[in-house]
Amino acid sequence: MFEIKGDLLNSVLMEGIKESVFIVKVINDLDFVYVYLNRAAMEKTGLTKSVIGQSIDDVYAAERADFLIEQYKKVVISLESVTYEDSNTSLLGEMYYSEITLSPLFDESNKCTHIVAVVHDVTEKKWGEFELKSYWDSLLESKQRYRSLYEFNVDAIFSINRNGQIIKGNAAVKDVTGYDANSLIDSTFISLVAVEHINAIMDSFNRAVEGKNQHLNIAITNKSGNRVEVIAKFTPTIVNGDVVGIYWILKDITEQLTILKMYQESEQRFRIIAENSQDLITMLDEKGKIIYVSPSYKTVLGFNKEEYLGKYFFHNIHLEHKDKMWESVLQSIKNEKSWKLQVLNKHKTKGWIWCELSGTPVFDNQSQFIHMVCVTRDIHLQKEYELKLKHIAFHDSLTNLPNRRLFKEKLTHILIDSKKNKIGFAVFIMDIDHFKSINDELGHDIGDEVLIEFGKRVSKCLQDDEIVARLGGDEFTVLLPNRQSEYEAASFAKQIQKSMDEPWIITNIKLKITTSIGIAIVADENATESGILKTADIALYEAKRAGRNTYRIR
Ligand code: GH3
Ligand code: MG
Repeated sequence: MFEIKGDLLNSVLMEGIKESVFIVKVINDLDFVYVYLNRAAMEKTGLTKSVIGQSIDDVYAAERADFLIEQYKKVVISLESVTYEDSNTSLLGEMYYSEITLSPLFDESNKCTHIVAVVHDVTEKKWGEFELKSYWDSLLESKQRYRSLYEFNVDAIFSINRNGQIIKGNAAVKDVTGYDANSLIDSTFISLVAVEHINAIMDSFNRAVEGKNQHLNIAITNKSGNRVEVIAKFTPTIVNGDVVGIYWILKDITEQLTILKMYQESEQRFRIIAENSQDLITMLDEKGKIIYVSPSYKTVLGFNKEEYLGKYFFHNIHLEHKDKMWESVLQSIKNEKSWKLQVLNKHKTKGWIWCELSGTPVFDNQSQFIHMVCVTRDIHLQKEYELKLKHIAFHDSLTNLPNRRLFKEKLTHILIDSKKNKIGFAVFIMDIDHFKSINDELGHDIGDEVLIEFGKRVSKCLQDDEIVARLGGDEFTVLLPNRQSEYEAASFAKQIQKSMDEPWIITNIKLKITTSIGIAIVADENATESGILKTADIALYEAKRAGRNTYRIR
């Protein structure tokens, strides 16, 4: 019984020899059963180890089998080596020529038990003989080109035979499947395919066997047992109308799918945020048309989203803010930066609402502007609060009259106008007489009511552009832009005194309230705010000294 002895012999024959080697067992001198074939033999012919135990008759079609058996029989009969020439088509679809030497192996009784077939590739020699060297060179070049395409391809490429058995694979097989290509040889490609894709891949393979290119998305199971998403492509090699082999190419698309998933997740995240946000989220296309609005539009501005889609974003922005907004948008696209603006947005029923708008331009891979994502926040409460704060900052909380700060601002303005227009004006400072005793005798609350009522009475005496302010304590001031003569000032002072003479009844308590008034008439081009106040203060002091409930003009 012939056996290949030892791993060394096996590996030398298997891996080290570029010639194809077949060993057949001779049965009854007429049947030849394969007992061995090396790697080169499998690569060249597309046969796999599965032929071991099969006879030449089983492996090849009748005509070819007869030809081969005839050669083998010659060895059995002559008990000598036989050499014959053969031509065939490789799995890559190339014609190759070979010289085959069949050598007999004998047992002790000199009976031929095995025949070793060593196949030398003589294609190059043949081409030389055909004097088609130049053609051969170009073929060689394209073959080399092809080889590097095969070897260095980042996609896993398997050569498989018509039975679906793997004959060889390139280096990328390891990257995609985790298996060394050699360890997969002889196994069927189906063993790599995830269970749920087996039917589909079989259909595809069967069509490839019929000569049709096929591709489909499947998952394979890699060496570590993990799924790898791939595009699986079958490319049949067709020679003279027959499919002699099939390339199975696996393109790992895990990364693409991960990116897709990330994109989908980010879109989903965008939606989750948008759909649940109280802010208004708007997506615009590159022309500024609305392609998405969040549901919050309904609650904040009263419109359904259908009323926005397809319209220009500017359509419900107040005319006064459109230009500024347009400018911000253009700048942001140009500088690839976000923008922010406070604008009035139209509410379906409530009219204009203050909103803060911020937009972020979105660009594609080619830096082409494609979207603007806008977040609009209803800030009308904030605006009201801001106004309130501003009011508080410039008004006295007890009387709600302008405070010292606002008074000073107004004084500055009036002073500027007066210098410009060369028109004088009057400033009054009033201090309630003996106010302390009201607090002391009737309590602070009554004192407060007196201060409030005092402010109201003075206010009633004023014309449009005249202003009363509380400077602090029981001290008030009045700005009279159009009263520039002493006469006019005096008559206004009298008017105030008259209004103080009206009966004072505060929480059923009758009071007598008077005020002393110091008046500064401003006509000097060099007048300053502090100078004016000082003058009025001096006048007030003089009025107090004069016995109170009177006025003095300076
Ligand atoms: P004069 O006639 O010289 O003006 O005497 P007066 O008692 O009015 O004294 P003065 O103007 O100097 O005192 C003002 C007082 O006003 C002192 C303070 O206790 C009181 N006061 C200041 N702010 C308030 C306030 O907000 N409410 C009340 N009820 N009293 C205040
Ligand atoms: Mg006082």
